[in-house]
Amino acid sequence: MKYFGAHVSAAGGVENAPVNAHEIGGRAFALFTKNQRQWISAPLAQKSIDSFKKECLRFGYQPFAIMPHDSYLINLGHPDSEALEKSRAAFLDEMQRCEQLGLDRLNFHPGSSLGKITDEECLDIVAESINITLGKTRGVTAVIENTAGQGSNVGYKFEHLAHIISKVDDKSRVGVCLDTCHSFAAGYDLRTQEACKATFATFDDIVGFEYLRGMHLNDAIKPLGSRVDRHTSLGKGEIGLECFRYIANDPRFDDMPLILETPAEELWPQEIEMLYGFISE
Ligand SMILES: [Zn+2]
Ligand SMILES: [Zn+2]
Repeated sequence: MKYFGAHVSAAGGVENAPVNAHEIGGRAFALFTKNQRQWISAPLAQKSIDSFKKECLRFGYQPFAIMPHDSYLINLGHPDSEALEKSRAAFLDEMQRCEQLGLDRLNFHPGSSLGKITDEECLDIVAESINITLGKTRGVTAVIENTAGQGSNVGYKFEHLAHIISKVDDKSRVGVCLDTCHSFAAGYDLRTQEACKATFATFDDIVGFEYLRGMHLNDAIKPLGSRVDRHTSLGKGEIGLECFRYIANDPRFDDMPLILETPAEELWPQEIEMLYGFISE
């Protein structure tokens, strides 16, 4: 079964996210469990945790359809040890928040070399960061998102994701999230059914669908291979709708969160409805 949804607001408390997700017709959702632009947030209150779980039950959201996203400040591949420690501590806090909420995955951008180390060295640091965090937590999978390759961000090639996974000790708790906009910006064509078939076959060869734990569904403003990350609403960018029709009809994307991060929130109900409408009988 397909679980489409959006990255919804958790303003006022994480317990508001399932309500917001339900209101737009999503069967899945993503959220930030803390302010994504601050290093430190207050711990989750027990009342908030209980209420989150209750609301998820009420609206039928199971953990496999919920994909929390970590803070944008975190760089698990940071070349400087002091800054790396800060990122690792913040990432551990994010993983522990997921544990507290009963969630089973945390989506994050792998990291950035800041031009000071090679991509490969950066990827090794990311893998070590994941190993350290998995050693201190239980039940939550680290879900690496592929990137557009903007600036010195690593993770824009499927080989990068495979490299990280190869160095993670507990393979049962590492996964990936593919963002359609990032993939396209990184040079993976998704404009036609044939292009999707080829791109996802490449992904399966290099990483493997067994590691896929979710998708971000975004159209792209910038052209193929631009390495620039600019999301737009489905069908309004360079990718077009065929990609999303393809995903809706491919069982390899069943039973995982398929999340819109498109900018026009007012269109989310229509986009979600359209995605479900793509599923052939
Ligand atoms: Zn994304
Ligand atoms: Zn993006």
